[in-house]
Amino acid sequence: MSRFLSTEAACLAPYTPGEQPTDAQYIKLNTNESPFSPSPRVVKALSRAEVLKLNLYSDPTCGVLTDAIAARYGLRRENVLAANGSDEVLAFAFRAFCGQGRGVAYADITYGFYKAQSALFGLEATVVPLREDFTLRVEDYLNFPGTVVIANPNAPTGIALPRTDIQRLVESNPDRVVIVDEAYVDFGAESCVPMILRYENLLVTQTMSKSRSLAGGRVGFALGSPELISALNRVKYSFNPYNVNRLSLIAGAAAMEDEDYFRDSIAAIEKNRAWTTRELEALGFTVLPSSANFILAKSDRMSGETLYRTLKENGILVRWWADQPRIRDYIRVTIGSAEQMAALVDEIARLLDM
Ligand SMILES: *Cc1c(COP(=O)(O)O)cnc(C)c1O
Repeated sequence: MSRFLSTEAACLAPYTPGEQPTDAQYIKLNTNESPFSPSPRVVKALSRAEVLKLNLYSDPTCGVLTDAIAARYGLRRENVLAANGSDEVLAFAFRAFCGQGRGVAYADITYGFYKAQSALFGLEATVVPLREDFTLRVEDYLNFPGTVVIANPNAPTGIALPRTDIQRLVESNPDRVVIVDEAYVDFGAESCVPMILRYENLLVTQTMSKSRSLAGGRVGFALGSPELISALNRVKYSFNPYNVNRLSLIAGAAAMEDEDYFRDSIAAIEKNRAWTTRELEALGFTVLPSSANFILAKSDRMSGETLYRTLKENGILVRWWADQPRIRDYIRVTIGSAEQMAALVDEIARLLDM
């Protein structure tokens, strides 16, 4: 480690993103991106005229984008905060709602960024094991005094929690913030967005990275009571007032307005998910029930590590976690196009035959 590191930076636990190779041509099923390009409306909105305005700062209130988001969910501007991906939303939320005397709780198997951000902000983190079958027991969190973060559906399991469970958690202590990370909710889980008008302590985060094909545009947002949103703005204006760039504001608004394209993309992913699940089960895999655009699966004949490595050698990238004993036998496969899924299944069938 560098001698230039501050004590605080030496204590960080940086998140390791999935590989983004630039050399070989891989079938990329490792980072839960959409296999589809953004909506044609996005392409049209990103005009030369807009590029020529890049000499000007972006709108710090993210007006066009927050309005499009608010309209889509039947909310007001005061209920929305936009950011550079939901990772940035989560960072603002961790800084705003956790700190001295107010720790954070999350599951042992969940999105790795919660741990990374807890370390970044020096928070006391309570890690709560999921059940044996990887479902989350909401009872485990009811008495926790700090902030609770739940990914719903969870990642990388894909398992969804019923909205009524989250409602119990939110109601059990109105003075505690509950953050529900709905990065994958559009693929089949129950959203808590309709609850935010009733509960001032519920913050929902979403992203355009998965269901709206804008991972590279970095657009995420938080939905919540005006009280929570203004707390997030306090952090944002202490960090990066012009957080979302001009082109992403426009791209995000256009993506949010193309409901037909959104629905078609989701339908295709759900269809391909069902197909891939059936095919892998026929090859002897155990596949966790997924409400997301990925599946967590394990073979009865090949370790997760061997699957990951051999698939990679053969041009298919999936995700595997060496440092997570509970899911070491599993691989996580992003649901791509029908062609990509057929290629994956063919390759796995061939590997198991050898
Ligand atoms: C992908 C993901 C995010 C963040 O995505 P952004 O690209 O930063 O919007 C947040 N939470 C979970 C669980 C994710 O998988």
